[in-house]
Amino acid sequence: MTTRQDCLDRDAADPLAAARDRFSLPDGMIYLDGNSLGALPVAAAEVVREAVERQWGADLIASWNKHGWIGLPQKVGGKIARLIGAGADEVVAADSVSVNLFKLAAAAVGAQDGRRVVLTEGGDFPTDLYILQGLAGMIPDVELRVVEPGGIEAALDDRVAVVLLSHVHYRSGAVRDMAGLNAAIRAVGALSLWDLSHSAGVLDVDLNRDGADLAAGCGYKYLSGGPGAPAYLFVARRHQAALRNPLSGWMGHARPFDFVDDYAPAAGIDRWLCGTPPILSLTALNAALAAFDGVDMVAARAKAGTLGDLFIERVETRCAGQGLTLASPRDASARGGQVSFTHPRGWPMMQNLIARGVIGDFRAPDVIRFGFAPLYVQYANVWDAVEVLGDILDSESWRDPRYQNVAAVT
Ligand SMILES: *Cc1c(COP(=O)(O)O)cnc(C)c1O
Repeated sequence: MTTRQDCLDRDAADPLAAARDRFSLPDGMIYLDGNSLGALPVAAAEVVREAVERQWGADLIASWNKHGWIGLPQKVGGKIARLIGAGADEVVAADSVSVNLFKLAAAAVGAQDGRRVVLTEGGDFPTDLYILQGLAGMIPDVELRVVEPGGIEAALDDRVAVVLLSHVHYRSGAVRDMAGLNAAIRAVGALSLWDLSHSAGVLDVDLNRDGADLAAGCGYKYLSGGPGAPAYLFVARRHQAALRNPLSGWMGHARPFDFVDDYAPAAGIDRWLCGTPPILSLTALNAALAAFDGVDMVAARAKAGTLGDLFIERVETRCAGQGLTLASPRDASARGGQVSFTHPRGWPMMQNLIARGVIGDFRAPDVIRFGFAPLYVQYANVWDAVEVLGDILDSESWRDPRYQNVAAVT
């Protein structure tokens, strides 16, 4: 049986313990939602203030050159590249995940005559499905093939142009076998497109080792880039010359400041830019990524796994018989950074937890979800969070009317 003292001992021995000091977390709060909005890195607050006051405020438009604003999408992309096993010239920060998925899926279809099927799984993150529905509705002969979870391999054939999959499932936290799926996708001549939103910054993602073709991911979750932070995209070097960005905006032009009438795509990853980059948001994301300096992602993943294991063990012990059912893989090697449980009254329970300073989130219809960002969540936090959950269940305090109202953002 684990004790709270064991948790404190594990924190004292944790090789990643020092990384917590790189984040600003409110006193008394246990933050288990870094998979939805990463905590504020201390450096980001200072650097954004400086960018507003000294760069925007004093140097104004000269800052595009003087402070390197124009190169920020590539600079930030290069930092993310290390975290996802890509070359610095294969990643750029741009737009949102939704927009990047559109650009990449449309490009993959456009580059392959005769292949008109876009393949994905049902039950994945909604925007991924919605974007593909929009794409299929736009190009008359494109067919969207949505299969049951686990059905991708059986649905692969020589009409498939691109397969979109989440690396880690947003609801269950289940990790897919990226290398195995890429091999199957490659065998029928299709391209893989991975959504890394729930894996980058918590798993040791290795796109090139695992043979990925295309990917996109989120800047505001484990990467802690701030609310609405720019997303990023990856195009493997071997595909960069052939694929065309359908959103052919001026920032992806070979020479944007020639101001010529005809679009000519930039070489390499730069063509995946569209419009003017959001400099303040990129500045925050750039500073946030420094929190990962020196962090070994294999160690980060291992810690997220042991935090999750501890959480499962504690919930199943302390909250036994309370109707909570594990909705994530039990085996840490099959799980991302989050653990989900289902309970028919999950919504008021989560509201009660939040009111008591334990922050997780709820996903309709019945999932309560807890994220274990390895850079700042401590083992003692896990212990304390489960004690609060146990107390809420024992006392049935979640039945209070104030926890029943459903908010706009869950
Ligand atoms: C968070 C998340 C997104 C976010 O998409 P945006 O367009 O950046 O809002 C997309 N896909 C998945 C799987 C996510 O978890």
